[in-house]
Parts: sequence; structure tokens; C-alpha cells
Amino acid sequence: MKILFASKNKNKFEEINKIFLDSKFEIVFKDDLDDVIEDRDTIIGNAQKKSEEIFEKYKIPVISDDSGLFVEALGDEPGVKTARYAGETASASDNINKLLKNLEDKDNKVAFFKTVLYFYDGQNRLDTEGILSGNITTSPRGENGFGYDPIFEVGGLTLAELSFDQKSKISHRKIASEKMLALLSHTFKE
Ligand code: IMP
Repeated sequence: MKILFASKNKNKFEEINKIFLDSKFEIVFKDDLDDVIEDRDTIIGNAQKKSEEIFEKYKIPVISDDSGLFVEALGDEPGVKTARYAGETASASDNINKLLKNLEDKDNKVAFFKTVLYFYDGQNRLDTEGILSGNITTSPRGENGFGYDPIFEVGGLTLAELSFDQKSKISHRKIASEKMLALLSHTFKE
């Protein structure tokens, strides 16, 4: 079964694709997808919206990914606003700078990433979640990955200091992808 990945983010695609490589599900990447406005108040709401809109357009099964970073000392912000924390057109470094500034005077740097994957084929709806716990650093470190990876630390290294393979072994997206593969395998037995 071919499943269209409802995101233009190649990094996300590669993390998810790695889990599905030896399965009967082929994840298809398309870098010219229309943008879907993420205006729901929850991560799962945005994931559902992306899957439904992309399914309506292409009429093939879709998986979307929506993620957020939840920082304890900021009352779980930026959460659903993670992508546009520093404004609608904010870059990854704008978002990182804003987060570091807001955490400057806080001792508690505990945070977690959450990814929700949402499958929709016009009939079946499946969703899974993956969580990665860690803490926010005081400055960015590392060159790999994307988004907030340079300031999210697990076991002494930021996600941007890990290789793609190392991040793919522990990431929130990997956890959600393995659960999704299990659910899909159960739902589509033949
Ligand atoms: P979205 O899921 O594309 O809406 O992503 C929300 C925000 O979280 C964006 O700013 C992404 O760059 C960031 N983000 C999502 N997943 C990750 C990750 O694995 N590492 C670092 N940042 C991420």
C-alpha cells in the first residue's frame, strides 16, 4: 500500500520512512504539497486536519505528522504553537532564540517533544503518539537535524549532535512510527 506523507519536511519523512522500509507500506514523499493551515488548538487536531485536506486532494491514503515541544517551566509552551513560537514567519533560529530567552532565568529546563501521526484513507482513521523527554540547553549545539534539535538535550547531547541514525533510534517520531506500523499491519492484514 502506498501512503502519501502529508509534509514537505524531508527530515521528518526520512525518520518515518526508516521505520517503514521493510514493511508492506510504502511512504511516498512529495515536496510540492499545498500548505495546510495549522489552526487547531491541539497537535492531534492539526494532524487530523492535514490528513483530511491532503486526502481530499490526492485521494490516496495519507499519514500526517504534527509535533510540538512542551517546556515545563513555561506551562507546557510552546506546545501547539511550536512552529510559530516567534511569529507566523519565524525561522528555526528565531524560535530557538525566543525559547532560550524565556528560559534564561528558570532553573527548570525539563521539556518533552510529542509527535502525533494520523492516518486517513477516507474510511479508516488511526493515530499514534510518541514522546521524547529531555531538557533545554542554555545555548545551541550541533549541526544535524532540524527545528529545535540544537537546544534539546538527551543524555548530555543535543539532538543536533546526534547522527541521523542515533536520533532515529530514540526520537518521538520513531516511537509514533513504530506504533503506527503496528496499527496499520493489524488493520490491513492482507
Ligand atoms: P510541525 O509538526 O511541522 O508543525 O512542527 C512543529 C515545530 O516543531 C516546528 O518548528 C518544527 O521545526 C519543530 N519540530 C518538530 N519535530 C522536531 C524534531 O524532531 N526536532 C526538532 N524540532 C522539531
